[in-house]
Amino acid sequence: MLAKRLPGILPPMSVEETLETSRIHSILGLLSPSSPLMKTRPFRAPHHTVSDAGLLGGGANPAPGEISLAHNGVLFLDELPEFKRNVLEVLRQPLENGAVSVCRAAGSFNFPSRFILVAAMNPCPCGHYGDQRRVCRCTPPQVQKYRAKISGPLLDRIDLHVEVGSLEENELVSAPTGEPSAKIRDRVIGARAAQRARFKDAKLHSNSQMEPAHLQKFCAIDRKSETLLRHAIREFNLSARAYDRILRVARTIADLAFAETIAEQHIFEAINYRALDKRLW
Ligand SMILES: [Zn+2]
Repeated sequence: MLAKRLPGILPPMSVEETLETSRIHSILGLLSPSSPLMKTRPFRAPHHTVSDAGLLGGGANPAPGEISLAHNGVLFLDELPEFKRNVLEVLRQPLENGAVSVCRAAGSFNFPSRFILVAAMNPCPCGHYGDQRRVCRCTPPQVQKYRAKISGPLLDRIDLHVEVGSLEENELVSAPTGEPSAKIRDRVIGARAAQRARFKDAKLHSNSQMEPAHLQKFCAIDRKSETLLRHAIREFNLSARAYDRILRVARTIADLAFAETIAEQHIFEAINYRALDKRLW
């Protein structure tokens, strides 16, 4: 449900994004003649039995796959470890490049695929590992085998890992509380505007596109934050890629708080989103 709500807090699509997204969907005849333009960001949730051609694109007459249909929107992979490992591994290149090239006898085709990846998984095959009220019946090797289906390099490319506990009975029946999507969306629009202003000379749109040189320029941190980050890297044995990602996420957290510079608490929060690095995988 949370994943499905995500497009609702993202900024509206620009004219350019609307055209790009509509073009991809129209190739597959997914738009009706009465409304030839996509008005909302796409949300795609392919089943775990999807083939790599279905996900990446392909076929005799190469057509875009799910990752391109999710361009400018959200790709949701529920029960991530159930996907075939080779299918997950092919996601790495488009996640880095925002585009996918499909080579077939008919030639080589490039499809755009800049999407937000959201994935969900259980902590173990039975789903009760770590639950206070229910007993997990999996053996340690079963738990390990299940989690090992997600490779380190793929996990590295996922910025935010969040553990979500099961709901209490009264939480299920009581009316939902919390901020409405529209209010959150305003904050996101503000953070994106700050990013556009920051990057106006660097030809970037968002924090996620920052290369190492940009990180040095735009993500300067003070000595206290640096000590904290170095400690986390040693403690959780983080890769260089995870280090860069923590800086980008901290920059975004600071933007959402309308803070000019990255502070220690932003770094701290970003480190906390690496929950899966802190476990033994
Ligand atoms: Zn279990």
